[in-house]
Amino acid sequence: MNHRSIAIDGPAGAGKSTLARKLAEKLGFLYVDTGAIYRTVALAVLRAGVDPADESQVIPLLKGLDIRMAYGEDGMQRMYLSGEEVSQAIREHQVSGVASKTSAIPAVRDFLLDFQRRQAREHDIVMDGRDIGTVVLPQADVKIFLTAAPEARARRRLLELEERGQEADFDTVLRDIKERDYQDEHRPVAPLKRAEDAALLDTTQLNLEQSLMGLLALVKEKIAQ
Ligand code: C5P
Repeated sequence: MNHRSIAIDGPAGAGKSTLARKLAEKLGFLYVDTGAIYRTVALAVLRAGVDPADESQVIPLLKGLDIRMAYGEDGMQRMYLSGEEVSQAIREHQVSGVASKTSAIPAVRDFLLDFQRRQAREHDIVMDGRDIGTVVLPQADVKIFLTAAPEARARRRLLELEERGQEADFDTVLRDIKERDYQDEHRPVAPLKRAEDAALLDTTQLNLEQSLMGLLALVKEKIAQ
């Protein structure tokens, strides 16, 4: 049987992961956070102490990389690096910047492509990332590009960091978001961009509940439940 797939792409802080997870819950689909997979590679690069932007240093690391993904009883996606659970460690602020650099390396993207596609072959999924509708699952049943103004995204990110007890200030978070947008949009391979056939959902003025209703409406248009 062919599995159904929903691709959600968009910039950092648009609410993708929270919304995609909730959407998956409502539909009974598996949620795959591909950012977490890129972050796990980034953590390995960070720990190895190599320059994340230098292909010649990063590529040799890929061969020995042992990355696994599993789901806890709570349904949350967990990431493992060489057997160690790193679900928390990959959320550190420092890892975000490194992920943006390592993910621009074509060999890193190739390395993760099969890993991601396999999930879609095996399950009904909601998958979120930057290039899911354009590269990873161009045949997805539903494609959504989720975005919001950088200031709104920075405010949400700041709240998230504060809730986790991490210190940050608005200007730094906003600058980091804009920098990551720029890097993600301008890399030569699989840049962040809206697929031609993706529906656009701008959440600048929407709260979580309203955004979720918007997503569900888009999904119901395309997938008969
Ligand atoms: O979504 P998240 O912020 O966790 O992603 C971290 C970084 O991983 C992004 O800034 C982006 O550079 C990269 N990424 C990617 N392709 C994806 C998911 C994430 O390049 N599908």
